[in-house]
Amino acid sequence: MKKYEVTTYTSEETMKLAEKLALLVRPGAVITLEGDLGAGKTTFTKGLGISLGVTRTINSPTFTIVKEYMGELPLYHMDVYRLEDSDEDIGFDEYFNGPGITVVEWASFIEEFLPEERLDVEIKVKDEHARSITFYPKGSYYENICKELAR
Ligand code: ADP
Ligand code: MG
Repeated sequence: MKKYEVTTYTSEETMKLAEKLALLVRPGAVITLEGDLGAGKTTFTKGLGISLGVTRTINSPTFTIVKEYMGELPLYHMDVYRLEDSDEDIGFDEYFNGPGITVVEWASFIEEFLPEERLDVEIKVKDEHARSITFYPKGSYYENICKELAR
């Protein structure tokens, strides 16, 4: 499976999709989220958090680049928007290879640091509530996850 596309019609549906995804990934998984402001990247991350048993409220990490949430597994939530014109390595590998799941908003800004194997997710706004969510798995591990997600 080279890509898998779903349309959601409510933020709850987007969260449910992310919850399902979180049950399929193992520690060390890296998920990137691309999409305009208000597309639903943070909403998607909240869904991951629910599945991972995070109880703290997840919100956009605007002032910090990484927020770490404890659940059954840690959830590392990165918003690298502010690194657009920088090539600074904030120790990405420690997160990507760590015991948790990493989610990166605006991942294209740190392309050079991203692991080759990862799950790229693109969220497009179709109308006020409809979102087209496309999963682009990079590597067979993530391809299998997408097959499961599509069941
Ligand atoms: P981003 O992190 O991409 O800037 P947010 O997740 O913070 O976006 O905001 C998405 C907004 O769109 C929220 O207010 C959410 O309630 C709303 N929304 C409406 N429909 C959807 C949907 N189908 N999926 C996700 N969010 C939706
Ligand atoms: Mg956000």
